[in-house]
Amino acid sequence: MQTGWHFDNSYVRDLEGFYAPWQVEPTAAPELLQFNSALADRLGLSHENISDSALAQILGGSVLPKGAEPIALAYAGHQFGHYNPQLGDGRALLLGELIAPDGARFDLQLKGSGRTPFSRNGDGRSAIGPALREYLVSEAMAALGVPTTRALSVVATGERVQRERAHPGAVLARVAASHIRIGTFQFFATHFGPDHVRQLADYTIERHYPAAANADHRYFALFEAALNAQVALVAKWTNLGFVHGVMNTDNVAISGETIDYGPCAFIDSYAPDAVFSSIDRQGRYAFGNQPFIARWNMAQLARAMLPVLVDEDPDAVDKVNALIGTFPERYIAAWLDGMRAKLGLASVEEGDADLASRLFKTMEGQNVDFTLFFHQLARVPDEGAAVVSRLFSDPQAADPWLDEWLARIDRDPLSAADRRAAMNAVNPLYIPRNHMVEHALDAAEEDSDLAPFERLLDAVRNPYAERPDLSDYAQPAPPEFGKYVTFCGT
Ligand code: AMP
Ligand code: MG
Ligand code: MG
Repeated sequence: MQTGWHFDNSYVRDLEGFYAPWQVEPTAAPELLQFNSALADRLGLSHENISDSALAQILGGSVLPKGAEPIALAYAGHQFGHYNPQLGDGRALLLGELIAPDGARFDLQLKGSGRTPFSRNGDGRSAIGPALREYLVSEAMAALGVPTTRALSVVATGERVQRERAHPGAVLARVAASHIRIGTFQFFATHFGPDHVRQLADYTIERHYPAAANADHRYFALFEAALNAQVALVAKWTNLGFVHGVMNTDNVAISGETIDYGPCAFIDSYAPDAVFSSIDRQGRYAFGNQPFIARWNMAQLARAMLPVLVDEDPDAVDKVNALIGTFPERYIAAWLDGMRAKLGLASVEEGDADLASRLFKTMEGQNVDFTLFFHQLARVPDEGAAVVSRLFSDPQAADPWLDEWLARIDRDPLSAADRRAAMNAVNPLYIPRNHMVEHALDAAEEDSDLAPFERLLDAVRNPYAERPDLSDYAQPAPPEFGKYVTFCGT
């Protein structure tokens, strides 16, 4: 279909053999449920002159837009530590790469659009709940300044998808810097060997880390850039209380974007062992474990790239090991930068890491809302300790730490007004709170009522500025909400 959308499909052109050409498949009754017009504008997609039903045809996978060349990508991955050599896009189809008006390149992928050669026993479909969930949470992450894939649309297919029961089906259109994962490197290392890994690495350098092309050791430079991107990403997650939930190596994008919003959740109260995913029984992907897993994942990438790295530099093994060994210090530096911002500190003091750690010790077991605590902390200098103390089970528990913090900000150069503004610019008030997400998805699925979803979306897209009409979104979950459990569900 003629859309005026500008596709340029470099993966198809440059990486023959790294994917399976495939086709879109018409769905019964496509209906456009959500369309992200701000993102469409960013991508330079004309849409004003395309009807909703034509958009639903394209973004639901019934009609191919001109210039698209659909493919399913091959990849492998460590799932909960166990290597699976054969994964790939089992319920996703890459339509092609969109070139935005500023020249930036983005993958446009349909998720839930039907079976592919990589589907194994799966149906290739997605239910409406997970599609809307990814749309909502990835929009929230983007608004919070976290690198992330984006959601362009959700199209209801008019078909039923059988899970533990039948659900309405939907297709999510996902936009990403690319869909190259650690697992993509692993797939080609396992099945094809160094020449393919080198080819993929060259492509990745050109697309994501062009500066590496000028380094003495370009593949090492690629690895280091990808590692730094993971460091920065996971530090942001931790600063915000985000639990990805399924950090398998096939769910780690080399670009450093957050990808795969299956079982993710934001913590309510601070707990390093917080786990939401029903299948993560050992707590492998618990909140506080994420930096360790990120490091482990990078070691898997190193392993896949090793023959190429050694070919480039005989000393690569030692160098890569040394680099991976610096993961903790790099991570702590990135996390601490984020913590200083959250605590309103423009200056650097030796004791800041301890100050932050003591805060988390103080919060532990106190059932204090993580997001509200930081948001309210900005008010303490003007309004007194009670605005945060009241969030603790034992209101006096916070006093020693608050005294320490007040003494610390006295030594900091920011003016009171500037500090408050700076804190309000990094500590959100509106996140996709678990109980609100569930409420919105229930209404969408059970009652075909998208109003709660759209109101929540509106809140999380503007996460910082307080709005009186949205006060219910800034409240902790009611006790009867109980323990939150998420599903990798599709
Ligand atoms: P995920 O849990 O989303 O990271 O997916 C892990 C792997 O399972 C990927 O290769 C997916 O393509 C595949 N997969 C997940 N759900 C389905 C499905 N409904 N049909 C086919 N493949 C699936
Ligand atoms: Mg995945
Ligand atoms: Mg998933």
